Amino acid sequence: MSPSYDFSHKVVCVTGAGRGIGLAIASAFAEAGARVCVNDIDAESALRAASDLSATGSDVFAFPADVADPARVSAMFGAIDQRWDQIDVLVNNAGIEPVHSLFDHPLSDWRRTLDVNLTGPFLCTQHAARRMRDRGGGVILNIASIAGKSQPLYLRSAYAASKAGLVGFTKEAAREFAPYGIRVNAVCPGVIVTPMTEHLREDAAQMARWRGEIPLARLGEAEEVAALCLWLASDAASYVTGVAWHVDGGKNMA
Ligand code: NAP
Repeated sequence: MSPSYDFSHKVVCVTGAGRGIGLAIASAFAEAGARVCVNDIDAESALRAASDLSATGSDVFAFPADVADPARVSAMFGAIDQRWDQIDVLVNNAGIEPVHSLFDHPLSDWRRTLDVNLTGPFLCTQHAARRMRDRGGGVILNIASIAGKSQPLYLRSAYAASKAGLVGFTKEAAREFAPYGIRVNAVCPGVIVTPMTEHLREDAAQMARWRGEIPLARLGEAEEVAALCLWLASDAASYVTGVAWHVDGGKNMA
């Protein structure tokens, strides 16, 4: 996807960027000239992603960390300060999606999902927003899901609750940060081709059902989510804040 944005003076941090949607977002920003901190809980994939992006000439570094760990998140923003002394765009992308019936949902998985999908963005947002306030502005993007807005999935109650929480959090943050020039939006993908949905895509009957329900009649690509993120982070979206955007092939039109 050819970038039509110039982020060459911007510093971007993308969480969960070792693979999937996060990697596509980090790659798109790097291609548009941004300096990028690639976070992932999986050190190997974070380092591999950063090394691949550096090989194309981008200024990138990996910071392996669990976004739910306050000390590691603090260390990550400290490392960004040390390297660039600037943060312009935060993309809260890291997420997990456990599958359980509510009847016997383990409490530990419920808590872990809220920790990663909701507390992680809270922690990263606090660190980024304080710095953005001091610099006069910035952009925060929260990768939520149609599951948290308009499309119940199945056996994913913790996931849906965390993503619905993230949409509410986005609006609160947008309201509070607006006077400081910080815009906050949520991005709600439909079913996107990534490792997270690999097990679902193996089910041919399910795939046929989905195609029938999606007006554009196909699943989305990670690069298509990244394209929306670039627009939202750019000055072209300078009057856009507090919105949860669908990127789902038209499945949810509300
Ligand atoms: P993915 O392929 O599973 O990639 C997520 C990445 O985040 C993985 O590298 C994962 O590492 C990392 N991660 C997990 N927990 C983390 C933590 N605590 N701290 C830092 N990194 C962590 O998922 P994806 O499909 O790209 O999804 C990315 C985001 O989009 C998620 O928030 C997801 O909920 C959302 N989303 C995806 C879809 C879809 O259809 N794919 C639809 C709607 C929303 P490990 O591999 O080690 O776990």
